[in-house]
Amino acid sequence: MEKDSKTGYSYVSQYLFINFLNTINIKKVSVTDFLDEENGLEDWLSFMTQQGILNQQQAEKLHKSPIDVERVKEFRDQWRGYLSGPEGNEIPLASLATYTEDAPLFIDKTFTPVSSKGGTEGFLALLSFEMIQAFQQGVFKKIKKCESSLCYAFFVDTSGRRQWCSMEVCGNREKARKHYVKKGNI
Ligand SMILES: [Zn+2]
Repeated sequence: MEKDSKTGYSYVSQYLFINFLNTINIKKVSVTDFLDEENGLEDWLSFMTQQGILNQQQAEKLHKSPIDVERVKEFRDQWRGYLSGPEGNEIPLASLATYTEDAPLFIDKTFTPVSSKGGTEGFLALLSFEMIQAFQQGVFKKIKKCESSLCYAFFVDTSGRRQWCSMEVCGNREKARKHYVKKGNI
């Protein structure tokens, strides 16, 4: 997907939790926490719904109660830390189960998990459920950090050869930079 100049996200993953981890990134030249922007979380949730990553029922449920931005940012930053750690690092998977116990999920008629609660608890349960599923499907082993020094995004490398979260944004930028360096301009 092309860089969305309005949202500032370099690409959109099919996984809600990966997109959530990527709500902090370098925008233009400085590190930007998209959740700290005015209506940041709201805008991100609508963006996820527009992209079809959250369905209408999931989104409506989440909106039933307020989401504590600080609380969910803490969760995001913890997991960014775990996933940035050295390979083979212990991942506290069991901690995820506590969230799904607090707000059990049910499967709707389209086989999509919907949280029984809205707000912070419901949101963390939904993310945790997806993360447990992804872990069981071997997706965690394929999570990589974008190799661009100007990008903080994580992505799922299914081919084992992908270097950038997005070829259009980070891949081309790195290629252009290398070309420029080679020409002796820097
Ligand atoms: Zn990137």
